[in-house]
Amino acid sequence: MKIDRMEIDDAGANPKKLADAITKQLGDTPCKVDVRKIAADIDIYEIREQPLTGLAGCLVVPEDKSIGAIAVDGRMTEERKRYTIGHEIGHYVNPMHRASSAEGFKCTRKDMLTHSAAPGDKHAKMEMEANQFAAELLMPADWVRRLLRKKIGVDLQHILDMASLFEVSKEAAARRYLTFAAEPAAVVFSHEGKVRYVRKHDDFPRLSVWNGQSLHPDCYSMTNEKERGYISDVIEAVGHHWLENSRGVSLGEQTIAQANGYRMTLLTVELEEEEEWEPPLFRR
Ligand SMILES: [Zn+2]
Repeated sequence: MKIDRMEIDDAGANPKKLADAITKQLGDTPCKVDVRKIAADIDIYEIREQPLTGLAGCLVVPEDKSIGAIAVDGRMTEERKRYTIGHEIGHYVNPMHRASSAEGFKCTRKDMLTHSAAPGDKHAKMEMEANQFAAELLMPADWVRRLLRKKIGVDLQHILDMASLFEVSKEAAARRYLTFAAEPAAVVFSHEGKVRYVRKHDDFPRLSVWNGQSLHPDCYSMTNEKERGYISDVIEAVGHHWLENSRGVSLGEQTIAQANGYRMTLLTVELEEEEEWEPPLFRR
């Protein structure tokens, strides 16, 4: 079925509503979204893959955005190309997004990771919105909820399942998963024992390790000997290995070793029930 562009034009400028206007035309069954076909249906006449210096992707459009062309860095993985195409479609369909140069929207790898914007920072706001759009388009909220309804608890396997079903990177799947997961959680991406970055739910407590820092040498992610590709059990972690303040919380840790020293760690928290304190009884 061809995507009807009129329905998108009626959706306004909200990234989620714009993506919904497309995904509701795709049916009910969670699947890999064909971003290239969607682009073609809405008059993006070319998606070129080529080496781009310093950019993940760009979108060339006339002022009225009646047609467009996308270029993506051909050296990226298919998952990142798909996300980048989704991001550029986000600029294309959003009536509030205007290119800063005659050459169109030029989006860097950093732009692909923009998830907040300071007040008045128009560029960051557009990039953030294009990312919101890409996440909604590739992993529609209704589909994610439907998938997770069948799953119990919070588990790294759910993130891997989402990444493979929707053909997105594990990072993009993790970020989306944490929004919908049953309890507050965080995912730490590390490489050879150093934190690359962290994705966390807003309600997850502050971590004691951050980008570029070393993981605690005694934490389970550093000491377990599971082979590459095997997801560990969830163990009860030592709070201060991961958290700035772990009083009153019980921390779960689950981890998987990936290729070339890369690793993902899922952290979950549960509030410990406080024991009721009874005042001592004094005999008279
Ligand atoms: Zn962009």
